[in-house]
Amino acid sequence: MIVQNIQSFIAGSWTPPDSSARDIRDAVTGEVIARAGRDHVDSGALIDHAVQVGAPALRALTFHDRARMLKALALYLQDRKQVLYDLSFSTGATQKDHLIDVDGGIGTMLVIASKGRREMPDGHVYIDGGVEQLSRGGSFVGQHVCTPLQGVAVHINAFNFPVWGMLEKLAPTLLAGMPAIVKPATTTCYVTEACVRMMLESGILPDGSLQLVTGGLGDFLDHLGPQDVVSFTGSADTAFSLRSAPNLLRNSVRFVAEQDSLNASILGPDAVAGTPEFDLFVTEVHREMTTKAGQKCTAIRRIIAPRAQVDAVIAAVSERLRETVIGDPRDPATGMGALVSDAQRRDVLDKCATLGAEAERVFGDPDEFAVHGANATKGAFLPPMLYHCADPDAASHVHDTEAFGPVATIMGYRDLNHAMALANRGQGSLVASIVTHDPQVARDVVLGAGAYHGRLYFNNRDSMAEATGHGSPLPHMVHGGPGRAGGGEELGGVRGVLHYMQRTAVQGSPDVIAAVTGQWLPGATTTEGPAHPFRRSFDALRIGDTLHTAEREVKLADIEHFADFTGDTFYAHMDDDAARRNPFFPGRVAHGYLLLSFAAGLFVDPDEGPVLANTGLDNLRFQKPVSAGDRIKVQLTVKAKTPRTDTYGEVRWQVILRNQDDDPVADYELLTMNAYEQAR
Ligand code: NAP
Repeated sequence: MIVQNIQSFIAGSWTPPDSSARDIRDAVTGEVIARAGRDHVDSGALIDHAVQVGAPALRALTFHDRARMLKALALYLQDRKQVLYDLSFSTGATQKDHLIDVDGGIGTMLVIASKGRREMPDGHVYIDGGVEQLSRGGSFVGQHVCTPLQGVAVHINAFNFPVWGMLEKLAPTLLAGMPAIVKPATTTCYVTEACVRMMLESGILPDGSLQLVTGGLGDFLDHLGPQDVVSFTGSADTAFSLRSAPNLLRNSVRFVAEQDSLNASILGPDAVAGTPEFDLFVTEVHREMTTKAGQKCTAIRRIIAPRAQVDAVIAAVSERLRETVIGDPRDPATGMGALVSDAQRRDVLDKCATLGAEAERVFGDPDEFAVHGANATKGAFLPPMLYHCADPDAASHVHDTEAFGPVATIMGYRDLNHAMALANRGQGSLVASIVTHDPQVARDVVLGAGAYHGRLYFNNRDSMAEATGHGSPLPHMVHGGPGRAGGGEELGGVRGVLHYMQRTAVQGSPDVIAAVTGQWLPGATTTEGPAHPFRRSFDALRIGDTLHTAEREVKLADIEHFADFTGDTFYAHMDDDAARRNPFFPGRVAHGYLLLSFAAGLFVDPDEGPVLANTGLDNLRFQKPVSAGDRIKVQLTVKAKTPRTDTYGEVRWQVILRNQDDDPVADYELLTMNAYEQAR
């Protein structure tokens, strides 16, 4: 057997382990397959390379450039994922588990890339929220903006997801414009190292944007400064010892923690045996106990069921567990592979002993279970184990002891308030699921348990065909939880990117704010050229380019014609007396949609040209009624431009309708797709 030396990638070179390296064993055979670690980590070289080489190169790119880079990287990995599958079997994981880790990681990167293109500007500054009016005359305004932190992001990851755990942090970090140093858990670092090699070999990433430290970090964290971020995933104990390091506290180094958590799943009061929800609950519990051999931070640790249903749940879950084949993860018939290491197996057994003081084991015997296709004494195998806690109010360990393996405890509840109180005794969890067909139960749980949970997952007969599973963090939704779960938050689309950026409140004149954000705002300079802006290509249009139209009188005949034509004969447009009784109108008024149509008639340039389509409008407000005899005119100003494809981009126009007295009567943002001068 060849023992692989797992290297680190520091300051542009691969560095082998030294004599102090730790052995890493195959989870299934127990054989030593790799070594990783060095006595000394060159912190200065790591940080300098990230900050001097990687960070400037990343910051020179726009959000869209970085999003395209992430997409290319994800597709590159997608084509090579078989290599990662092959290696991952040695971690004890089955092919189904690989889909969560490898495909889940790549999928997460793709979603973050797509969010970057759709929800962030093709620029360097992310705009957070709207413009704040800070003065009566509008000459002094405020805007929150986010820019990338200028240090390095240090990612310390847990052993259970060597690929997903890295990519779910890396994608938001790189999208933000920060370089990363990845430190995987040593036990499974050979999978992470292979994935990092692929990403570096792709040539897609700028130099210095990704480095890898396998083995320990030495005193590296003592060298971090105020522009750095530590993003940690692992146990609560390790998080506590790392986040309380004096250097991190002194420099207010951001510390994002994703810790272990005693996640609950509640069987709703309505979901009694015989309902589709009951069967669904059993399926979810079984899946969470056996996937990754229960080594998932989101796995269900506490099964909370109505007291009258406890026996039925024990029987149904036990039946499913009995059918689960434990053994060689390479065998497609295997339902649950090995734990990651013998040390992990022993740790789980220790925790089971703690749970055993308060709960009775009702399924699974670690001393007697069948292992198929592998040597039970060499591999880190355990059977799934179900405990029953008869008095969960008096118990404490079942609510605070995480056996990070195929272990869960069932407990009964009296009523929904009791169920929530039990769930909340986890002191803050990543996720709780509630299987119920009663929407009122869902609302009560959100109000009663939301504060203790980062995610609440409701499932029932209506959603079960498409629901994504209790244990799956999704890139669109935040992952993290309060208290015991670490108090951190990751993912959640662009929210996860902002952990690697500084939010700054910028105050100044409209022109100053426009220059910072690259977006026009009221009060900022406008420019009017001889040509109609609809004659200009996407590239030729400048922020602030403006058209002022002629006036058009709105006649009573127009209002009546519009009412007849569209069928919108609402009394405010048709009946003067009725309209006057309404607190909003002086009498009959023009339809808002008539004004929009007249506005288009005023500003549109009719000939074929670079404007390809009107794709919508945002933020429409009617500010003042328009009566027959009033005259309206339009200001059309380029507010923002966003490239969309190789041939066209989106132009966001600020449209302001005013009456003959220059009072604004309506405004909105119009979206058009405009062709580039030349395809890109
Ligand atoms: P762990 O023992 O806490 O280790 C986590 C990481 O911290 C590993 O990379 C480890 O490296 C590193 N580490 C340990 N001591 C360190 C130190 N002094 N300085 C720098 N780094 C240090 O956790 P684990 O056993 O790998 O993972 C299992 C735990 O993670 C479970 O409790 C699980 O619930 C939790 N988890 C949470 C999430 C989440 O998203 N909330 C996800 C997955 C797992 P070495 O391996 O080299 O020691």
